Amino acid sequence: METVTRFAPSPNGPLHLGHALSAIVAHDLARERDGRFLVRIEDIDGARSRAEFAEAALADLAWLGLERDGDAIRQSDRIAAHAAVIEGLKARGLVYPCRCTRAEIAQASRESGPDGPVYPGTCRHARFEPDGPVAWRLDMAKAVAEAGPLTWFDELAGEQMARPELFGDVVLARKDAPGSYHLAVTLDDAVDGVTLVTRGADLFASTHVHRLLQALLGLPVPRWHHHALLLDESGEKLAKRRGSPSLADRRLAGEDGSQLAANLRAGRFPQGLALSGLANRSEKA
Ligand code: GLU
Repeated sequence: METVTRFAPSPNGPLHLGHALSAIVAHDLARERDGRFLVRIEDIDGARSRAEFAEAALADLAWLGLERDGDAIRQSDRIAAHAAVIEGLKARGLVYPCRCTRAEIAQASRESGPDGPVYPGTCRHARFEPDGPVAWRLDMAKAVAEAGPLTWFDELAGEQMARPELFGDVVLARKDAPGSYHLAVTLDDAVDGVTLVTRGADLFASTHVHRLLQALLGLPVPRWHHHALLLDESGEKLAKRRGSPSLADRRLAGEDGSQLAANLRAGRFPQGLALSGLANRSEKA
């Protein structure tokens, strides 16, 4: 089967060296295997996405010498398809409306999961008819019972038992967007024919949820390749707000992008940066 990888940045801010490394992993794995490398701009967070960050991301990839196959895909073009899937899950009784605030959840939660406080189930018990915008949560116990035991395969970490229950009742549709990260990324990878999902190890645990969604929705099951993260001296991921220069800063300052890519491939990182071990956790909402 042809290998299809993708780099899927969220245009919420400028890309930095960690993104460059992630894009290089996706690009090089596709090229090594004679496959295709796709780029998908994950711009469904209306409040945080900015067109200028999307444009800069595409310019950064070209500057690094990472040529994509086909046009860049925009996740926002898929919103109607995401909404249709949510309707199907409602009809199957697998999602329920939730109007809890983050503060209420933090206060009532008894457990901490890979994404933070596990939802305490308040609205699962309340069951109400929504009369305005609400979030829709997966009834995790029901979903897991319906799907049965599942496994998934990471090229670096090997075979994994799917443990989506660690997350509790995750949000699949947000008040302000029809698809949450988990739903949108899973559906779009299937629509785009991605066969090898490459991303940072900070998203490792999210794959438990994605594997469950694939089973519930009858989607093809890819393989995964969660790569190590580039961290600074204090073990933090790189981001502009912590003072590391963005790729756009480097590009506009006239740095040679192909040389930077060659250095990252060879493990020659700027002073103070190092690769993490493979973190078995997620930071996505
Ligand atoms: N859009 C996500 C991000 O920028 C990554 C999605 C993924 O690779 O699964 O963090």
